[in-house]
Amino acid sequence: MLPNSKGYYGGFGGKFVPEVLMGLLDELEKSYNKIKKERWFADQFKQILSDYVGRPTPLYEAKRLSRKYGFRIFLKREDLAHTGAHKINNTVGQAILAKAMGKTDIIAETGAGQHGVAAATACAMLGLKCKVFMGEEDIKRQHPNVERMRILGAEVIPVSSGTRTLKDAINEAIRYWVSHADKTFYLIGSAVGPHPYPSIVRDFQSVIGTEAKRQIKRQTGRLPDIIIACVGGGSNSIGIFWPFLKDNVKFVGVEAGGIGVGINQNAATLTYGRPGILHGALSYLLFDKNGNICPTHSIAAGLDYPGVGPAHSFFKETGRAEYHSVSDKEALDAFYELSKLEGIIPAMESSHAIAYLNKLKGILSSEAVVIVNLSGRGDKDLDAVLGKTK
Ligand SMILES: *Cc1c(COP(=O)(O)O)cnc(C)c1O
Repeated sequence: MLPNSKGYYGGFGGKFVPEVLMGLLDELEKSYNKIKKERWFADQFKQILSDYVGRPTPLYEAKRLSRKYGFRIFLKREDLAHTGAHKINNTVGQAILAKAMGKTDIIAETGAGQHGVAAATACAMLGLKCKVFMGEEDIKRQHPNVERMRILGAEVIPVSSGTRTLKDAINEAIRYWVSHADKTFYLIGSAVGPHPYPSIVRDFQSVIGTEAKRQIKRQTGRLPDIIIACVGGGSNSIGIFWPFLKDNVKFVGVEAGGIGVGINQNAATLTYGRPGILHGALSYLLFDKNGNICPTHSIAAGLDYPGVGPAHSFFKETGRAEYHSVSDKEALDAFYELSKLEGIIPAMESSHAIAYLNKLKGILSSEAVVIVNLSGRGDKDLDAVLGKTK
């Protein structure tokens, strides 16, 4: 069973947290294991996913893109989910869980602001109070998302310690959680952190793969040969991979290669990292030459994280999935290509997955079936893209 009862995927995962957090994680695990089996919970989650998030999202055969590459390409359209990306699947799931546990306040932390917006959205809809911790540097860089969170009724709490970015926001959120645990639920945004978070996020995001499996069978009469997804913390990728775990389907995770000159200039954790402990779990991590955790770089804010979820470290070690990186430039080319060939402007994160198609050109037969998870839409990225291509 994955993970095992201690929260390990092979040698990865676990709970590397101070004693005061152990009790909170145990409470979360017990509650989740009980609530997830209750009929009302599945029913409510399913109904919100369909009537509010807009699921199932389509599986679209991109014919012009397919013609260019010489094999059949299907796009799983998470960009069409409410708020424009897959993150809402998870925030809605955890917000329902929080309410069932009797919590009234949600806390979250955010770097680029995408998870903060998705959390604020779910909280508005379910009537929960929402506090989002965000580094002061990120507040400056990501102002539109800060405004969105405030419009949605969330309180954005500026964090001024350390480098005033995501990792400081995480520390602050944890500190708050420990001292307000009776009514507060900590809503984590990717398949990372201490057990049981990676598995909770995986379960909520697995709706992507469950739908894709049904859809590809209906549309082609068979399973795909390859599934490609971008990997930041690893939630959209684990969500589409997981329901195909036991099938003869190849998984490819695509990381951010940054400006493409190797160490310290990228966010390709599984390509360039090695195992270590960050944010409560043992997993692959990016270190600099002095052994400190690396500042990362990517044109895609959502991929700009030095760690990765434990399931992916396990998949890498066992060979169940392959991980590759593509550069900012390759992702930008893919961004324009999908926009011009299919009329779909992809998120810069998702553009990394599209860019990997180039590496399969000339290798796959014309009957091959490939699914690419289009994790989000690109409207949020126009400034970043135009800044690079002007
Ligand atoms: C946040 C984000 C990602 C990266 O996060 P994962 O947890 O790896 O899925 C990818 N795509 C989009 C559109 C995002 O907003």
